Amino acid sequence: MNRLVVIGNGMAGHRLVRALRDRDPAGSWRVDVLAEEPHPAYDRVALTSYVDDWDFDRLVLDPVDLASVHLGDPVRTIDRAAHTVTTASGAVYGYDALVLATGSYPFVPPIPGHDLPGCHVYRTIDDLDGIRAAAGRIGVGRRSALVVGGGLLGLEAAKALRDLGLSPHVVEMAPRLMPLQVDEGGGGLLRRLIAELDVTVHTGASTQAIAEERGRLLATLSNGTELDVDLVVFSAGVRPRDELARSTGLAVGERGGVVVDGGCRTSDPSVYAVGECACVDGRVYGLVAPGYAMAEVVADRLLGGSAAFPGADTSTKLKLLGVDVASFGDAHAATEGALEVVFHDAVAGSYKKVVVSDDARTLLGGVLVGDASAYPTLRALVGAEVPGDPAALIAPAGSGGAVGIAALPPSAQVCSCNAVTRGAIDEAIGAGCADVACVKKCTTAGTGCGSCLPALKQLLAVAGVAQSTALCEHFGQRRVDLFEILRATGIRTFSELIERHGTGRGCDICKPAVASMLASLGAGHVLDGEQAALQDTNDHFLANIQRNGTYSVVPRIPGGEITPAKLLVIAEVARDFGLYTKITGGQRIDLFGATVDQLPLIWRRLVDAGFESGHAYGKALRTVKSCVGTTWCRYGVQDSVGMAVELELRYRGLRSPHKVKAAVSGCARECAEARSKDFGVIATETGWNLYVGGNGGFTPRHAELLVSDVDSAMLVRLIDRFLMFYVRTADRLQRTAAWIEAMDGGIDRLREVIVDDSLGICAELEAAMELHVESYADEWSGVLEDPAKLARFRSFVNAPGVPDPTVSFREERGQRVPVSLGMPGGGR
Ligand SMILES: Cc1cc2nc3c(=O)[nH]c(=O)nc-3n(C[C@H](O)[C@H](O)[C@H](O)COP(=O)(O)OP(=O)(O)OC[C@H]3O[C@@H](n4cnc5c(N)ncnc54)[C@H](O)[C@@H]3O)c2cc1C
Repeated sequence: MNRLVVIGNGMAGHRLVRALRDRDPAGSWRVDVLAEEPHPAYDRVALTSYVDDWDFDRLVLDPVDLASVHLGDPVRTIDRAAHTVTTASGAVYGYDALVLATGSYPFVPPIPGHDLPGCHVYRTIDDLDGIRAAAGRIGVGRRSALVVGGGLLGLEAAKALRDLGLSPHVVEMAPRLMPLQVDEGGGGLLRRLIAELDVTVHTGASTQAIAEERGRLLATLSNGTELDVDLVVFSAGVRPRDELARSTGLAVGERGGVVVDGGCRTSDPSVYAVGECACVDGRVYGLVAPGYAMAEVVADRLLGGSAAFPGADTSTKLKLLGVDVASFGDAHAATEGALEVVFHDAVAGSYKKVVVSDDARTLLGGVLVGDASAYPTLRALVGAEVPGDPAALIAPAGSGGAVGIAALPPSAQVCSCNAVTRGAIDEAIGAGCADVACVKKCTTAGTGCGSCLPALKQLLAVAGVAQSTALCEHFGQRRVDLFEILRATGIRTFSELIERHGTGRGCDICKPAVASMLASLGAGHVLDGEQAALQDTNDHFLANIQRNGTYSVVPRIPGGEITPAKLLVIAEVARDFGLYTKITGGQRIDLFGATVDQLPLIWRRLVDAGFESGHAYGKALRTVKSCVGTTWCRYGVQDSVGMAVELELRYRGLRSPHKVKAAVSGCARECAEARSKDFGVIATETGWNLYVGGNGGFTPRHAELLVSDVDSAMLVRLIDRFLMFYVRTADRLQRTAAWIEAMDGGIDRLREVIVDDSLGICAELEAAMELHVESYADEWSGVLEDPAKLARFRSFVNAPGVPDPTVSFREERGQRVPVSLGMPGGGR
């Protein structure tokens, strides 16, 4: 049997072994994989997600039974004459064919201090464990970090550091972030969006030196800026690991990398190189897709084939700190005569550019920042004829001009990681694939970086296959089914739910959705145990993150009614913490500009004065607005304030699929604008009219009349049923308006269920609401009373009043506002 030795158990090495097994299940090669890292092969592309749960198993790639993998024992020498390699432990392996799959190492600029303790790189699981341990050792006070390099990996590192509770600075030598992928216009917007997320960006500057000072690191930038940080992560590019090739006399490229031909063969015919260590046509690729393509080529060659490396797509799409960035094809319009079409909506935070040939007929590439939903279609269209006006390619969705996925020709490559075309996907769908999971399995599309998954969904829809109602790829169930599972089984943790009823480890869709359901089911404080890790950013800190990375605080003011004494407390807190103060559209007072460390201090003052959280951060009941009603108004026919206060106190803290707003008007003049709310109550001479399903968010809707002239007790029971039915059966992020619209029979059906009790569930819905009312507890107090939860904020508590160097303010109309940015709108 032939002997194959693969040096390197990274993504390309692993792919090679898998490809060999797939093509040759009988196994005509005996394979030894020699690995430097002590861990099984893992998904390096998803490395940053390790910070979410520190669960390595989630990243492990499927083991391939064909190979013997030897972990933690790097190869030290290759003897090409003897056809052997020797590892650090002294083990010797003979080979008939040898594959170098040694990847890259992070480049660390040789600046003074680059090797001080506290300086890290960002490439492996061990690197992340090291960064985590270092972050854990940082004492109380302001915690910050420096990332050297503002490319793709630098921004990923910044995200990881932020998730570890550090405020990152990113220093990039080029005039913009991600200079390789993004053009000037996109870079400008990217910088703005990233800076809004507590990441301080320094472009056009390099790090000149790092020095140790009183246990911290002082970095000096070329523009004279000095940054006092706790740790430094170098992410200044990678270099191919070609040291073994050099020492054994194989040809290497001018700028490094093992030189290979189209068959991925090095200057020695029995030695191949794949992945980031290989140099094809003078080029080294730093992405996984080209490495996979090389691995396929070598597998084919080892079995006697003549496959050749087809060149590679260097398109990239990622969500950095929640900001979409994509770049594909000739993003910088380097092709002679190339024309650019740009659509930039600074208000919506979206930049889109397509590059077309000089006759405007062929799509060459593009850049998307802020909204990259068009990426799968556009990337697949690169090289194809533009179907119509190029501007239509980036026309806003819903404008009627946008080009959809249906325009892709069969030859268009939808998944660039695995080179899967639209034709192949259509074929799989034609053969019976009815969901994304099946398409993934049959075609391997979507199993790499995952950026084409939305395209797979769209192609299923184009082919007329009913859209899956699955919550996400980890749960095949609808939200309503998961709610029922939680209710029936009593499961109260995400990990148990996914283990018993889902797959994988979860994502940004299912984690907050399950967190919301658990909260509705009374699973305790939203920051209890593993629940904390499931929450969206706002819920994570029980406050709303704002454009400049500070938070806003909204105490509950039920019905908009407040005593002068409480008003004074709010005024004093705002004054003492220098908070911008605004009356919201929902009749309460929003205090903007608080840093994370200030939140518990502010809550303490407010809670002591009798305030509680207004849940302005949560998908929960926000406000019940009111007019003054019979108490003061000459026209009022009922006590609208009293009713609003009662309803707001009853439903406060109720977690729901989307935020819920309500209002009570004391007469038909409707001063509280109740019909624009999720539920609105309007007083009549004999009782109350109840309207439901208003608001609608992006698509404004008036609420529709559900019942008229009911008394107060009945009104409350009906709202109990309405809200509980909504919480249980609506989809994730579905507003009440859309929920009723989607209901077969609309408002009439809703009336049958919650007024006429056609399903016999009203008593149960009321009982569930009663349970919510009884178990309600203020979330701010929950943190203040629990040292474990408080620890989340404690690292900052020792430094109250210390100005945050990453946040700057200016004065506007007598108040502090963030520099150069207006405050976001939206009623709270
Ligand atoms: C944080 C991060 C995010 C990324 N995001 C993306 C992305 O979004 N899209 C994308 O396309 N790419 C991304 N990449 C790049 C992608 O991970 C690499 O392109 C891919 O891992 C390259 O595969 P490889 O096998 O060539 O190298 P690697 O995966 O690095 O594997 C090489 C292996 O060889 C081992 N090795 C080296 N020398 C020896 C020796 N002498 N003996 C034994 N073993 C040895 C190394 O320890 C390593 O385990 C990202 C990388 C990182 C770090």
